[in-house]
Amino acid sequence: MTQRPYIVGNWKMNGSRTMLAEARSIDRAAQRYPDVEIALAPPFTLIDALREAVSAIGVGGQDCHAEVKGAHTGDVSAAMLADIGADFVIVGHSERRRDHKESNAAVRAKAKAALAAGLGVILCVGETLAERDAGKAEAVVGKQIDGSLPKGEGIVEAIAAARLAIAYEPVWAIGTGRVAAIEDVIAMHAAVRARLIAAFGDSHAKVRILYGGSVNGENAGALLAAEGVEGALVGGASLTADAFLPIIAAASRPID
Ligand code: PEP
Repeated sequence: MTQRPYIVGNWKMNGSRTMLAEARSIDRAAQRYPDVEIALAPPFTLIDALREAVSAIGVGGQDCHAEVKGAHTGDVSAAMLADIGADFVIVGHSERRRDHKESNAAVRAKAKAALAAGLGVILCVGETLAERDAGKAEAVVGKQIDGSLPKGEGIVEAIAAARLAIAYEPVWAIGTGRVAAIEDVIAMHAAVRARLIAAFGDSHAKVRILYGGSVNGENAGALLAAEGVEGALVGGASLTADAFLPIIAAASRPID
């Protein structure tokens, strides 16, 4: 069975309670697109309220701690996210890898904790511009996948339940207005798929591979039509319903 395209908005460190109105508009419109899975990841402070405000879209966190609880001031665990009704969590976003020096091993531990808490996981990978210019993009992303994909007990079941997605986000395309060339996106998604097949065998098909990096209403149609692109992780263009809805519309396919 083919899966629905997955369109996820990452609000990053943006959003106050007034933005719940945008979430409500996105949620109302989402009901017109049952063939698209739609979700928002607001800052921690808004997850609870957003959960209450919406019904048709998923709600998730942008990060979690790898431990269930304990002396980690300022952190939030996957179990806590699940407790307030989150559906999923983003792990390994390049801004966290950069700002918090998160290693592949740390990202893997977070992903494992999130799956153990019953959450879906969106695992982010992507190369820097210097790495792409040096011809190392696929090697870098391959290493990130191998090092940060959760392994071990429960992973096959989690994948079978479609609780794992990979977001390929070239670092140089995030928030810059620069979008990767379609042929490079296709090539990287194929490389990521090959890694998933190597890691999970037949179960790989349930893992969706999303593209992220300056996706907007204008470029979404071409990106989402590209081979191997099964959704998008969207930053700036997910902050308002006006900007986000054209991306959702681009992912929607007419129902027979
Ligand atoms: C992101 O935050 O993951 C992202 C892709 O941001 P933007 O769409 O703003 O480039």
